[in-house]
Amino acid sequence: MRLTRRLLLPVLLSVATTAPFPCTAALGAQGTLRPDADPRIAQLVASVSQARLQATATTLAGFGTRSTLSDTVSTTRGIGAARRWIYDEFKRMSPKLQVSYDRHMLAQQGRITRDVELVNVVAILPGTSARRVYITGHYDTVNSRRPAGTDATATAAGRGTTPSQPLVRPTINDNADAPGANDDGSGTALTMELARVFAESGITFDATLVFVTWAGEEQGLIGSMAHATALRNAKGVVEANFNNDIVGSSLGGNGIVDGESVKIYSLGPEDSPSRSLARYVQRVAGTYVPSHTIRLMAREDRFGRGSDHSSFTANDFPAIVFREANENYERQHSPDDKLEGMDFRYLAQNARVNAAAAASVALAPPAPRVTTAGGTATIGRGPSGYDASLQWTASPGAVAYRVYARDAWTNDWQRSQVVGNVTQLLMPNVSIDDYVFGVAAIGADGHESLISAYVSPARKMTDVLLKK
Ligand SMILES: [Zn+2]
Repeated sequence: MRLTRRLLLPVLLSVATTAPFPCTAALGAQGTLRPDADPRIAQLVASVSQARLQATATTLAGFGTRSTLSDTVSTTRGIGAARRWIYDEFKRMSPKLQVSYDRHMLAQQGRITRDVELVNVVAILPGTSARRVYITGHYDTVNSRRPAGTDATATAAGRGTTPSQPLVRPTINDNADAPGANDDGSGTALTMELARVFAESGITFDATLVFVTWAGEEQGLIGSMAHATALRNAKGVVEANFNNDIVGSSLGGNGIVDGESVKIYSLGPEDSPSRSLARYVQRVAGTYVPSHTIRLMAREDRFGRGSDHSSFTANDFPAIVFREANENYERQHSPDDKLEGMDFRYLAQNARVNAAAAASVALAPPAPRVTTAGGTATIGRGPSGYDASLQWTASPGAVAYRVYARDAWTNDWQRSQVVGNVTQLLMPNVSIDDYVFGVAAIGADGHESLISAYVSPARKMTDVLLKK
């Protein structure tokens, strides 16, 4: 039955926002579970193995190069050997994982200097619903070091010195050393480790977990773009993409060491689904992995840099990217991206944050829809014309909803209230212009979805017609 719940503004606004339940680090100082913890997620987070992450990254770096344009025949060197090993590892982990090559025949384009078959490696852990939660990293590498004696127009990123300059071809040898221990051996090892941890957890997730190691990232996010575009064309539903790219070193090129924090970049605007995902991760991590600080970045990525999360947002799927606290640009895209620069304790912490957040999302119901089919927010001023009237679409599996609110000139939720199993809420004499509202779905076992925010799209303006 759908009910209208009447609440006074002071009620909603006086309730402190709490982290989505259950989001715990699970173990308190005395090793006891936090009261809001899901012991299954606590166990899953605890089973992330630093040693296995190190072993995986070591093997990946040992392929010498994993350039998308490198050798595919050798059994020990190049991207062919690397992807076959990743595939075999996924297969070995668990019979529950559906492992496949996601192949795309590419024509020569941009930094793809010849026709080539691009291959992403995919492991799927089916859930009880088809909606997908992605954990990803790119396994390809690049050596953009200028060969000795060439002119200095290329930067470490392989780009001209100004954005308008064409991309330069940094090396003519696609088989040159590009070990990519950190970029993105770290994200690849994290993705593979979480595939193992989730598959072995014994947990039945509502969402389908999809673990992908991408190719073609270094040539312009090509493998992820081909995959995400095909998925959108097939009307696939993605709840979240946790992309990890350069997350394995705590020592910056500036000499600063920070093994206690990680950055998350997300595409705005402020209440975009990707920004909502970023906030969610911060809240979940705050309780499940409290020793790790999540630094949210209100931008898509670093200046002039990118990664595969943008292929998802380009296809209207929520996505974020994790980045280590202090990068060492000298090691990236070079023969120096070696294991010596890695901190596997730090990588394990970042993996635990991913694990906690992805498990929480995947156990929760889908986020409620707060727009009409035409995209208009289902919020209004109620019968009096001065109320806040919220409506949302029921989420399968939800037993209650939590309504969030914040002052309109703030960027994170300040208050929340559980409102029972209803799909509308009326708050008399509350101005919808003064607050931002959002709503999340809560499942039978207490897991909470991402928050869907009520947003007003930018006003469409028309040119003024002047009399001639
Ligand atoms: Zn990268």
